Amino acid sequence: MRAQECPQKCSLQVLEAASYPSALILYSVVLMLFDSHCHLASPALAPQLDALLGRAAEAGVSAILNIGDTLEASALAQQQAQACSSAQLEVYASAGVHPHNALQWDDESEAQLRALLSLPRVVAVGEIGLDFFYDESHPEHPGAPQKKQEQVLEAHLHIARALELSVVIHSRDSDERLLSVVRNFSGVRGVFHCFASDKDVAQQVLEAGFHLGFGGMATFKNASQVREVAAWCPLERMLIETDAPYLAPVPMRGKSNEPAFVAYSARFLADLRGLELQEFARLTSLNARRLFGIGAE
Ligand SMILES: [Zn+2]
Ligand SMILES: [Zn+2]
Repeated sequence: MRAQECPQKCSLQVLEAASYPSALILYSVVLMLFDSHCHLASPALAPQLDALLGRAAEAGVSAILNIGDTLEASALAQQQAQACSSAQLEVYASAGVHPHNALQWDDESEAQLRALLSLPRVVAVGEIGLDFFYDESHPEHPGAPQKKQEQVLEAHLHIARALELSVVIHSRDSDERLLSVVRNFSGVRGVFHCFASDKDVAQQVLEAGFHLGFGGMATFKNASQVREVAAWCPLERMLIETDAPYLAPVPMRGKSNEPAFVAYSARFLADLRGLELQEFARLTSLNARRLFGIGAE
């Protein structure tokens, strides 16, 4: 059996067996990483989309969930997903208004969000949630009042439940409140992305039916709590992510993050779990596909 380089220079190895009919080519996917959270529509990443996706495919990324955080960014994320998705690297999008942008939510937003959620390749509602670190009392970057954040979150959860879509949740300094809100929406599933809270909160999030997302933060020296939870979390409830352009993992810490770097976090987390990288990538990929209703599963 001889290995050829894929003509598109992606991470797929094209294996051609001498004993097979020449028309039969087996594509052996070296890795199958699913970056479940990145912001390709952000000004830091959007201008270099083609190069970023090329590097992601070379690193073994086979699927990406491109997250919207305003209605405008969600529209762009959907366009990018539709324009750039390929057989080697599938790109999906989410649509929603991040708690940092909750003040943008007005009477017309719900109809606009529903329209975005009906477009091809949009598979989740998000990024939504609560961020009580950046509420109206923050001295430098005042955000939306907690009450407004909560209203916007609830509006999204109503829509997610009606459309049977999973949600992508951001929670900062707000776990208790967030858990009590999502418990009112039984049946809604999703992921608490970039999970950094303790095991007790993690347990409650899992009991509420949600997944936990882990990425670059797990590799940070001072993040022992993240590692503790990532080592303990049931494997079938784990997703991996970059949160690019933020939170680049070691050894890229401090650089602009990008989907290719999910490979560093995945390797780190696989070691933490005592699993082969390939198997860890396959399982977390399957988790993401199930959660977001992608593919045959
Ligand atoms: Zn977030
Ligand atoms: Zn995000």
